[in-house]
Amino acid sequence: MLLIKDLHKSYDTGKSKLHVLKGIDLSIAEGEFVSIMGSSGSGKSTLLNIIGILDEKDSGTYELDGIPIEDLNETKAAEYRSRFLGFVFQSFNLIGYKTALENVALPLYYQNIPRKERNARALEYLEKVGLRQWADHLPNELSGGQKQRVAIARALITDPKVILADEPTGALDSKTTYDIMKLLQEINREGKTIIVVTHEPDVAAETKRNVLLKDGRIESDEYIEQRVLS
Ligand code: ATP
Ligand code: MG
Repeated sequence: MLLIKDLHKSYDTGKSKLHVLKGIDLSIAEGEFVSIMGSSGSGKSTLLNIIGILDEKDSGTYELDGIPIEDLNETKAAEYRSRFLGFVFQSFNLIGYKTALENVALPLYYQNIPRKERNARALEYLEKVGLRQWADHLPNELSGGQKQRVAIARALITDPKVILADEPTGALDSKTTYDIMKLLQEINREGKTIIVVTHEPDVAAETKRNVLLKDGRIESDEYIEQRVLS
């Protein structure tokens, strides 16, 4: 599904160069549920953004579903993102003046799908995350957990191969974190590949594989006995 070899990334901060990723090798198969951990500044978001084609690597190779991700122009990058990837962020990134339904339907708008079908599918996905009756509400009328459910529905609506989540529970309390992780486990059981960046060991324990970043390299990478939420 995803094959990364000897990937490097530096940031030019004007005065000096910051070598953030120093040779990452990572292979993730379809249906995996992977957590990426590491201290603040260890490069977790940088790696996830490169995987998500939101940022470019300096060197090394990256293949997504057999396609080399190499020197893409923005049109091509956007096409691959909408074809393969769904994103979930710590801050939800919902559009404030659009309803839950409109937020979930938005990726289909960019795929030129007619309005009626967009809304029908958005309602289906809101149902899936348990928010059908909240369809007409604006984000500021929803709790943090509900907002994240809307964001998850939006990430799923294009049926992407991989869901990328950067600290999806970072802004949530422990009960809501539990509910969101339970939902992600359900989605993974249905076959979706999920990669989640987190600094919470509890969250990592609820995935199936833990990757630890340290000093720009993968310090450990192990399959674990998943704590299944019910
Ligand atoms: P956190 O847990 O705090 O989210 P992280 O592991 O996600 O940290 P990154 O955001 O990947 O870390 O950042 C890694 C390093 O790269 C940090 O030192 C950060 O300051 C630097 N960095 C990230 N993005 C940029 C950028 N666009 N320009 C310059 N430096 C950056
Ligand atoms: Mg980060």
